[in-house]
Amino acid sequence: MTPGSAKPRVLIVGAGLGGLTLAQCLRKQGIHFEIFDRDADILARQGWAIAIHSIVDNLSVSFCSDMPPLRESADHLLPLKLEPQICFYGHGQKMTVENTPETQCLRLNRLLFRRWLATRIPLHWGKRLRRVEEEEGGCVTVHFEDGTSASGDILVGADGVNSVVREHLLGQPNSEVLNSIPLSNIWGETTLSGEAFERQLSLAHSTYAYSSQELGCVILVGLNKVNADLSADYYWCVGWDDPDAGKPDHWLKYASGAAKHDWVMKMTEPLEYKFREIFQLTPVADILPGQTVYRDLIIPSLPTGRIVLVGDAAHAMTPFRGEGGVQAIKDALNISEALGHINLEDSTDVGLILEPYQREILERGQAAVLMSRNANKNNQQVHNSIVAWGHVAKPTAEENVVLEKCKPHLPQGMRTSFQILTCDPRISKIGPAASNYNVMLNTQDMSLQSRDPHSFGHASPGIVTTGRFSSRWNLKCMEEKDLHFKFRKSACTVNSRTGAGVELQADEQW
Ligand SMILES: Cc1cc2nc3c(=O)[nH]c(=O)nc-3n(C[C@H](O)[C@H](O)[C@H](O)COP(=O)(O)OP(=O)(O)OC[C@H]3O[C@@H](n4cnc5c(N)ncnc54)[C@H](O)[C@@H]3O)c2cc1C
Repeated sequence: MTPGSAKPRVLIVGAGLGGLTLAQCLRKQGIHFEIFDRDADILARQGWAIAIHSIVDNLSVSFCSDMPPLRESADHLLPLKLEPQICFYGHGQKMTVENTPETQCLRLNRLLFRRWLATRIPLHWGKRLRRVEEEEGGCVTVHFEDGTSASGDILVGADGVNSVVREHLLGQPNSEVLNSIPLSNIWGETTLSGEAFERQLSLAHSTYAYSSQELGCVILVGLNKVNADLSADYYWCVGWDDPDAGKPDHWLKYASGAAKHDWVMKMTEPLEYKFREIFQLTPVADILPGQTVYRDLIIPSLPTGRIVLVGDAAHAMTPFRGEGGVQAIKDALNISEALGHINLEDSTDVGLILEPYQREILERGQAAVLMSRNANKNNQQVHNSIVAWGHVAKPTAEENVVLEKCKPHLPQGMRTSFQILTCDPRISKIGPAASNYNVMLNTQDMSLQSRDPHSFGHASPGIVTTGRFSSRWNLKCMEEKDLHFKFRKSACTVNSRTGAGVELQADEQW
């Protein structure tokens, strides 16, 4: 227990959607926490864009008011002026769920969303959990592969589908509890621009699926992000029922990109060309290697105590309904409420406070796992009740998106401003006078203002300058463009229109 306080010290293992949401809630509640992740840093790849719905308002209530605006920070469509939208084809009519005031849903670039969730959260990177130890007196200790450890009063396992915390709680290896879905998939990625990009946006702004009984496979295409040159990074998946999917010697494990590409073109041959174009345009080298087998999980109950699970660690599910992340966030919001009720000076058993919250997580999770399991097939059967992103899809007309009409136009001379915030704790500790880090800043087309007199006071346009590091910069840029910041050991790129609140992580090498 923290001296002089009856609030628990919380350990969170896993800085994905669930773990970081919980960290933000605890930051607001003033509850001490430490959060650990095996990733090397925030830039580690975690997946493509993700849709969230039904919890957007809860986040603003549960998080501190100093969070940057979510949509402006992480919307996958920025800088385009288009609403997030998912469309379904193969049912005779295009069916759509789109963000409107009545059907609220966001689709976020995963990296930017994770970065947003990590705002002002001190993270322990490079900490891969190896084992958990429960000590007498209620203390929980986590041991990491690098030989370090940390102790606290409560442990939250937010370590995803292959959770080590879950293995400890259940006393069973994950291979015995996870259920393999008999479905094979081939994944690819590609960058599109110009008319090819417009044709994909016309099929759906964010993502679309094509499924039909006759086709024998389901295709999914998603926009991950729009680049500053108005090209766009796409990903796609072609999946089909395959009872052999879980077999160790499955052909997909060893197949070349060319073999997979041929297979995709063959399977999708009956489709109109507009639905196959993206496969055709994907270079063979951009077909993902190996095999992906979806797994899901139903845990009927967990031991009552000081260790709880949230997110995929508690209820991994297939991605067909786009629910796993939303459920992980709901779990974190609920568990944070339970943690707020704990007073370690009180004689009430901590486990008894946590138990109803953990039970609710498992029950709600189980319902989502079952609904998600066959959602790809249900979409084929029940044409008029396709549910996605928390809403029922509605019939819609074909669309013809023209990039020129949806790209931002800043009037001549208008300035757009944004802030770059850093959470490097050493800057506030040592004070501005000592913060003489070398920062290279390409100031082309940019005028610079800073509240910190010890940092850049002014920089002339068009030069690369070296100056002192500020914990807070206000930069003004005359136009929409990518701005490149180069530090001694790291670099980042910020789009001048969408860069609000970008969080720079501490550069350990400084
Ligand atoms: C293709 C695809 C599309 C999806 N689309 C959507 C969607 O649109 N909407 C939606 O709501 N959901 C979607 N999901 C599901 C969603 O991604 C997951 O359910 C969600 O990420 C779960 O959050 P989590 O915090 O539980 O786990 P994760 O986000 O997986 O985070 C777990 C974290 O734990 C860390 N970790 C793991 N093991 C260890 C260890 N031993 N030690 C330390 N750290 C560890 C990992 O590095 C990771 O950062 C999709 C999933 C897939 C695969």
